[in-house]
Amino acid sequence: MPDLSVDNVSKEFPTRGDPLVVLRGVSLELSAGENVAIVGPSGSGKSTLLYIIGTLDTPTSGRVTIADQDPFALDEAALAAFRNERIGFVFQDHHLLPQCNVLENVLMPAIANGAASQQAIERAGMLLERVGLQDRLTHRPAELSGGERQRVAIARAMINRPTLLLADEPTGNLDRTTAESVGRLLLEMQQQEQAMLVVVTHSQQLSERLARRCEIDDGRLKELR
Ligand code: ADP
Ligand code: MG
Repeated sequence: MPDLSVDNVSKEFPTRGDPLVVLRGVSLELSAGENVAIVGPSGSGKSTLLYIIGTLDTPTSGRVTIADQDPFALDEAALAAFRNERIGFVFQDHHLLPQCNVLENVLMPAIANGAASQQAIERAGMLLERVGLQDRLTHRPAELSGGERQRVAIARAMINRPTLLLADEPTGNLDRTTAESVGRLLLEMQQQEQAMLVVVTHSQQLSERLARRCEIDDGRLKELR
């Protein structure tokens, strides 16, 4: 049984006229340790699909199963907890909290009842070392370069040992050299932790690093190789 199963998912957005059909029967399966790039022109529905996989949006029809769980069957509080524990997100914009330092940002998803455990603090330190930021723990996001901010975002996404790592244009705001190293790092982290990784990207350089490539075309997802 795959650890992620997207089964015949469709998504429509209501408009004043006919609904806007963005996804038409998309299916995708992924197992632990696998990674896939999703490519396609702007507006083709890549982010919509990633948000549905990430349980941030609901499909109009079809099913998503993550680690044997139908997340959309959970109530709101249980879904938020499930998402926080199981899914790590890296967005194009780092979405770091400006008032918190690097270590605090990485710990944020691990904070329960107002405090992080000693174990979480140790893991955050280890992750920040792996992304090369062990000397930046008390810096605030404004004091980092764009590439460094994305490295913090990657460490934060990994803090709870997610089953599923999702990245939406993670290198979209970076220059070519920085994009290359951030892309490599994202893959290394996913491989080391045997998470599943779905990356939406315009970057051919990044998509070619991934084991599988899928394209969204006219609302349908097809495997490119
Ligand atoms: P991509 O990430 O491939 O550029 P998106 O998934 O963001 O594309 O968007 C796909 C299409 O769905 C676009 O035409 C966009 O305008 C539309 N869309 C996305 N989100 C919404 C929404 N919340 N309401 C209405 N239309 C939306
Ligand atoms: Mg998008």
